[in-house]
Amino acid sequence: MQTFGGQPITVVPHERLNYTKGIISHRDLLNCSVDEIAEALSEDGVAEAKRMITKRNGVSVNTASVLLTFNRIKLPGRIKVSFYSLEVRPYISAPLRCYRCQSFGHISANCKRNPICNCDKAVHENSGCEQPFVCVNCDGNHSSLSPKCPVCRLEKEIKTIQTLQKIPYAEARKQVVPKEGLSYSQVAAKPSQTSNIVPAVQALVPQITVSSTTSVLCAKNDPKSKPTQYQSRY
Ligand SMILES: [Zn+2]
Ligand SMILES: [Zn+2]
Ligand SMILES: [Zn+2]
Repeated sequence: MQTFGGQPITVVPHERLNYTKGIISHRDLLNCSVDEIAEALSEDGVAEAKRMITKRNGVSVNTASVLLTFNRIKLPGRIKVSFYSLEVRPYISAPLRCYRCQSFGHISANCKRNPICNCDKAVHENSGCEQPFVCVNCDGNHSSLSPKCPVCRLEKEIKTIQTLQKIPYAEARKQVVPKEGLSYSQVAAKPSQTSNIVPAVQALVPQITVSSTTSVLCAKNDPKSKPTQYQSRY
């Protein structure tokens, strides 16, 4: 389509909805560069490959997991990498979090609130606050960054549903926080309302709990196996 209502238009693919992201893991992937992996898997619809990084003793180290961006809507269950048929697990990104006001759902560039310190007070003039933590999101005695925070866990559940069902944040939030008028901390404080969320999420993503290193199936005996560019590295 080049015109609409008599006006010239340009049609471009949606930046997010036409792509999907998944993670593959295998120790031999550590021997390959992400460029080699992306090139070898381009015929499978892989547009980009990125190495997953972790921190050990404060140092960033490569992991055996690679994040693949597919130029298609549906994630394949498995993908063939050289001799191996690797499980592709859905990638769930971290929830949006503001480093200015410490709340979820937006980033600091869009924040219209006052900056808040991790101690739940307005940001101090001097950095290095040593006051006890009070989480701004749930009033708990932890930093708002803490994985122990129930609001943080709720946000992760919302993000999981949003990613897997490809729905907007507000729609996913309704599934996790169904009652209008309740704050996240109120919902988080009621285990009876959240206890059925985790099984629901697990039913949607059974792959997430599977060990990444034991999920690899060797396809060495497959006569249709096509050598890839970096087969010799295995
Ligand atoms: Zn903010
Ligand atoms: Zn402080
Ligand atoms: Zn908290």
